[in-house]
Amino acid sequence: MAEKLNPWLNALKQLDKAAKAINLDPGYHQILAHPKRVLEVELPVRMDDGSIKVFVGWRVQHNDARGPCKGGIRYHPNTDVDEVKALAMWMTWKTAVVDIPYGGAKGGVRVDPNALSKAELERLTRRYAYAIAPIIGVDIDIPAPDVYTNPQTMAWIMDTYSMIKGYPEPGVITGKPLELGGSEGREEATARGLQYVTEEAVRVMKIDPKKSKAAIQGYGNAGYFSAKFMHELGIKVVAVSDTKGAIYNPDGLDPDKVLAHKQKTGSVAGFPGSTLLDKDPAKANEKLLELDVDVLIPAAVENVITDKNADKINAKLIVEAANGPTTPEADDILHERGITVVPDILSNAGGVTVSYYEWIQARTREWWDIETVRKKLKARMAKSFNDVYNMHKELKVDMRTAALALAVKRVVRAMELRGIWP
Ligand code: NAD
Repeated sequence: MAEKLNPWLNALKQLDKAAKAINLDPGYHQILAHPKRVLEVELPVRMDDGSIKVFVGWRVQHNDARGPCKGGIRYHPNTDVDEVKALAMWMTWKTAVVDIPYGGAKGGVRVDPNALSKAELERLTRRYAYAIAPIIGVDIDIPAPDVYTNPQTMAWIMDTYSMIKGYPEPGVITGKPLELGGSEGREEATARGLQYVTEEAVRVMKIDPKKSKAAIQGYGNAGYFSAKFMHELGIKVVAVSDTKGAIYNPDGLDPDKVLAHKQKTGSVAGFPGSTLLDKDPAKANEKLLELDVDVLIPAAVENVITDKNADKINAKLIVEAANGPTTPEADDILHERGITVVPDILSNAGGVTVSYYEWIQARTREWWDIETVRKKLKARMAKSFNDVYNMHKELKVDMRTAALALAVKRVVRAMELRGIWP
């Protein structure tokens, strides 16, 4: 299903489209088409059997005109520098769209974390933290979790960095465990933000959530919480999936019961009362995208909606939880067909927004309760949606181009005010 397309080329194409829409000065366009800094690091790790294995990792800082760089760290066997560069650029746009005082960065290590013991993973993480320590910092670049990294990984990075500095520095990283200064609401944040923008989207599109159906691809952190919160909005979740299958029930699925089934059996497949969309999991995941639903939420991997299936999508509204699920070619087809796409840099920005709240809390040593976090997040996501929606009306472009145009304008304005040094 997911096509292996070069995400960096996609990111550049998206930038070109936004640049055209706002008549961007070619000089600033050139600056934005290059990351500010790319660090490649070699990571020798002593394995449990005594042998040495060398891993490769990156930290890419795309732009810091609006503030310190911010972005997650991904552990994946297929990650490469182009993927990390694309993700770093998307972080610049994401932080600008929700108007938090950060730039964009991303990190990656090429590794299959499932093949490592916990002790090996800790040594790899500490070596990586040491290797990128010269370019991260509470006012420089603040990493966070991404695919296959979690609060424990963040705790090891926080500790390694603090050891190097000689004092505890919780503000250097977000997505930490609560006991180490993590924020309430961080776990649900991405899907909470997605819920708040979906509420705005159905309002402007005059879709009645109580009469609507949703299909969700992927049932991890983003997918499960999205299902739960769509259910809370009254939207019937009729299909969900993971790598092992896609399930369907026209009467709706109970998100918590599906999660309990997945935790017990390892997959959503076989959930009582549901049917499999296909015996072959890859085909089933393709069929899920084409279901006759109102809202479609890709919450798994990139490049799943392409020029090959964009004309078969039946949803009225696509809200992207995953990063980069739609290719630029598919965007054009969906736009022509009148299907609204709420783009990833807006719809999944709840995660980085609550990371920002965590950073503020770490710096002030004051802790907020979950109601405070949700209230602040809701106001920010609703405002961001409406900023993008107004830009979409003003420029007469699709929502992704509008979000990018808004972000690029904000970043360029910061660069103009600061000037080109020296
Ligand atoms: P996760 O690892 O918790 O879950 C991923 C889910 O997708 C799993 O259920 C997995 O089985 C499924 N999956 C993987 N490959 C698939 C495929 N080819 N077809 C169908 N299902 C597949 O990851 P997550 O944190 O939920 O992240 C999912 C996406 O959301 C990623 O693109 C990530 O970058 C993006 N995202 C997540 C967050 C966050 O805070 N979790 C924030 C922003 C963006």
